[in-house]
Amino acid sequence: MRIKSMKEQKTKDLKIYNTLSGTKEYFTPIHDDHVGMYVCGPTLYSEPHMGNMRTFINFDLVYRYLLHLGYKVKYVRNITDAGHITNSAGEQEDSIGEAARLEQLQPLEIVYKYNVRFQNLQKTYNLLPPTIEPTATGHIQEQIEIIEKIMENGFAYEVNGSVYFDVQTYQKSFNYGSLSGRKVEELENETRDLNAQGEKRFFADFALWKKANDNDMQIWRSPWGDGNPGWHIECTAMSTKYLGETFDIHGGGLDLKFPHHEDEIAQSCGSSGKTPAKFWMHANMLNVNGKKMSKSLGNFFLPQEIVEGSTALFDKAYTPNVLRLFMMQAHYRSTLDLTQDALNASEKGLTRLTEAMETLKNMAVSEKSSIDVISLVNSFYDAMNDDFNAPILVAKLFDAVKKINLIRDGKDSISKEDQKLLFTEMSGFILDVLGLTFESDHKDNRLNPVMELVLELRQQAREKKDWTTSDLIRDGLKKSGISVKDGKDKTSWQ
Ligand code: AMP
Ligand code: ZN
Repeated sequence: MRIKSMKEQKTKDLKIYNTLSGTKEYFTPIHDDHVGMYVCGPTLYSEPHMGNMRTFINFDLVYRYLLHLGYKVKYVRNITDAGHITNSAGEQEDSIGEAARLEQLQPLEIVYKYNVRFQNLQKTYNLLPPTIEPTATGHIQEQIEIIEKIMENGFAYEVNGSVYFDVQTYQKSFNYGSLSGRKVEELENETRDLNAQGEKRFFADFALWKKANDNDMQIWRSPWGDGNPGWHIECTAMSTKYLGETFDIHGGGLDLKFPHHEDEIAQSCGSSGKTPAKFWMHANMLNVNGKKMSKSLGNFFLPQEIVEGSTALFDKAYTPNVLRLFMMQAHYRSTLDLTQDALNASEKGLTRLTEAMETLKNMAVSEKSSIDVISLVNSFYDAMNDDFNAPILVAKLFDAVKKINLIRDGKDSISKEDQKLLFTEMSGFILDVLGLTFESDHKDNRLNPVMELVLELRQQAREKKDWTTSDLIRDGLKKSGISVKDGKDKTSWQ
């Protein structure tokens, strides 16, 4: 009862930083307790790297907290499997076609191959599956229909089988730049290569439909001839189809704010007259040595490599739990540097948290509490209600750990009711909101007999004073993320 009313109260206090207004605003859904959320998903021409995963983990946190507050969330995250992306030089690029040529596969074989890996990664890193993961190629008709509406409204024009969004005409009725704060005049100065304009009437116009060229491996029929969609239109088509013309939250990585999200807003206003989402959320980048992790810079690390311990960056493996806790120790709007020191700290933190939860569960209770459990629990909600501030939540959970350890040492006390409340709330925030799992749950039971055998062999080596072999075994295990502790009577592993 206490928990239910606390949650109801806290639900009203959620504030989200809205890129559109540049401020934190109170969140109330458009339709009662239903939330519609759209997040730009991956372009599956290669395996998503840890940077991509950071963005998806951050929106998994948002999704989890909204569910925790009791909202019914429809979470749509697309898969880009078609379309031309505009690169920094203003040229149209078909990354999936490029990968298909390189790997000698069909474009959709490429997407399928990397989607299988992406789905496995989501399981490994404990991401909740979205409600639906629609693909661009599955919604070509919907994209064509939106382009037709934009043309009917006078905000797009056709040239030689391609269709472009007409930014100058749009500017007369709407504000191009409302999200990113970019001014069209300033954009002109930024465009180095004016020849990139090509058949467009104005340099800032962008493609809604591109006429097919000889290199295109995926081509669709359209009222303007054979071709393929521009990159931005798929998100407008799929968000409208699954969430309606206006919905609650639109998210993506910060690098998508301009031009991708600016153009999505223009396409929605240009077709329905409405800004699609009330709240626009942008997650910041994962860096390596201060630089954004990216495919093009070549400084990327794969999520699977990190859990296997095979990256050049680290000398050992880390569990997905450690990676998640590490990610949660930075606010989603801050950059975060991937370093071994930070992962080691998260690893220690995770052990402390897991041990404290075990202690709390089996704790001797008193008649009265000497600690204020209600204000501790309030502080968890307050942290997350302040624009999903996970690092503050983690700090508050560690405050609770300190209290738990004091109670264990007999320096503080807790009543049965408070112990139950604290355990339920801490478990909720650790497991349901942060998406961690307790390490012991994670241990693969099939490893037990194998580890018994390995430790037995090590024990025999030690008895023969064969330190080379025993160290070889210990160091080899360490590389796989398994640490061995020699106790008085027994050797244990973790
Ligand atoms: P892409 O597959 O390139 O479309 O990227 C998928 C998502 O990952 C987008 O929301 C990007 O903004 C995001 N992303 C790309 N690189 C990083 C990075 N280094 N850190 C965090 N997010 C990233
Ligand atoms: Zn998008």
